[in-house]
Amino acid sequence: MIDEILPAISGEILADDANLTGASHDWGNLVHARPRLVVRPASATDVATVVRFASKRGIPVAARGAGHSPYGQGQADGGIVLDMTSLPPRRVVMDGSVSVDAGARWRDVLEVALPHGLTPPVFTDYLDVTVGGTLVVGGVGGAAHHYGVQTDTVVELEVVTGAGEVLTCSRDSNRKLFDAMLAGLGQCGVITRATLQLIPAPTRARRWKLYYDSLSAFLSDQREVVRDGRFEYLEGQPLLGEGGWRYMLEAVGYYTPPASPDEEVLLGALSFVEVESEDTTYFDFLNRVADGEAALRTEGSWFHPHPWIDVFLPDSVVEQVVAETLTTTDQSELGTTGLLLLYPLRADRLKTPLFKVPDGELVWLFSLLRTGSPIDPLVNARMVELNVDLYRKLRALGGKVYPSTAMPRTTEDWREHFGPEWPILTEAKALYAPESNLNPGQRLDLSESP
Ligand SMILES: Cc1cc2nc3c(=O)[nH]c(=O)nc-3n(C[C@H](O)[C@H](O)[C@H](O)COP(=O)(O)OP(=O)(O)OC[C@H]3O[C@@H](n4cnc5c(N)ncnc54)[C@H](O)[C@@H]3O)c2cc1C
Repeated sequence: MIDEILPAISGEILADDANLTGASHDWGNLVHARPRLVVRPASATDVATVVRFASKRGIPVAARGAGHSPYGQGQADGGIVLDMTSLPPRRVVMDGSVSVDAGARWRDVLEVALPHGLTPPVFTDYLDVTVGGTLVVGGVGGAAHHYGVQTDTVVELEVVTGAGEVLTCSRDSNRKLFDAMLAGLGQCGVITRATLQLIPAPTRARRWKLYYDSLSAFLSDQREVVRDGRFEYLEGQPLLGEGGWRYMLEAVGYYTPPASPDEEVLLGALSFVEVESEDTTYFDFLNRVADGEAALRTEGSWFHPHPWIDVFLPDSVVEQVVAETLTTTDQSELGTTGLLLLYPLRADRLKTPLFKVPDGELVWLFSLLRTGSPIDPLVNARMVELNVDLYRKLRALGGKVYPSTAMPRTTEDWREHFGPEWPILTEAKALYAPESNLNPGQRLDLSESP
């Protein structure tokens, strides 16, 4: 038994059924790979001990954050799962930045920064995913058209490399490791701490929901406001109603009284057909998914399978692809509580080498957030198949898939995904993690590649 030969650590080593079963579940509820051990590290040294032990024996190791991946990305079949949320919660606000343990959720980061009048610039829509879990994939949100994705806001990382060394890395030090860790799927190391950029925090948020009947009018207004940057936050959703598809542009102006957003200037020239607005605290706006979460937990579908797909489309094909997809999508492809997202990002704000999007000035996040069936695996298999079909179609059109997607993938798919940036991963793997098998649920084998 590996728990008998694993060197002593100050955290916990668990091999009971409840913990092993828990580590073989995630948000997607589609893939269930059972590890042999769950380790709850108490320090980076514990992480290093486990990684070193496992690397020498060819045992796979997965870091697990909040477990909100859709397709087993944080699981380790027959291996060791490191529960990163057990790292001691050390969160320190410094001048213009905050240093946190990798298991901190974005909610924790916000809560520690706000009393200093500061905030991270970019949040995911849901605050209860971890810093480590989003930094290995990107971290997209409505402020990304200003600041890039969450990986673009990282100042420094502490990483336990696949060889079991604890290193800090940044743009100025151990750069190869830094570049390979951000949006690099955790193949070269485990993030144990992150120092993140902070900016002054507003206190309030005015949110407008602008409705459109026409896809092209909706896209055209989104292009305009993302280019001129008039809103601090911008997302959008195609909405399926009784009369067919409508579109909702979600735009937010942050402010601190006595200043306030000038609605006439902000909305004046846009071509929506209906508008709703609301005013909340900045925190309540960022925490807006919490009410929906509570409702879905009560209703049950929070725990159902989630065959989600997030893709990035080139501006040149967004209208065609979205229109075609919507024509063939109804509630049965989305599930009763499923929803869609569609909003643009400015490519010039995206600086993380491994965060891959299509070429062009604007790229569009298009997400089909499907809710599957708790009883019929065929429904879920069909939804995953729809994801694969969309992926195949997009690949031919220059689209990219966000890593947090429910779809089987191979090393070859990833090599194509990273394109000219692939050597960033293979070279860092050779340098920092030559023998390790980290985050096997991402399904790429860098040792297969020269
Ligand atoms: C309700 C909901 C809303 C979401 N909204 C957004 C959104 O707006 N924007 C967005 O970008 N994403 C969004 N996501 C997707 C989510 O951010 C990603 O799936 C993210 O990877 C999940 O983070 P986690 O902490 O749950 O990590 P896990 O699912 O536990 O892990 C994700 C991956 O990261 C690895 N990992 C975790 N911690 C570490 C670490 N410390 N070091 C190295 N590797 C590590 C895991 O092995 C795994 O491969 C959403 C997900 C849900 C469920």
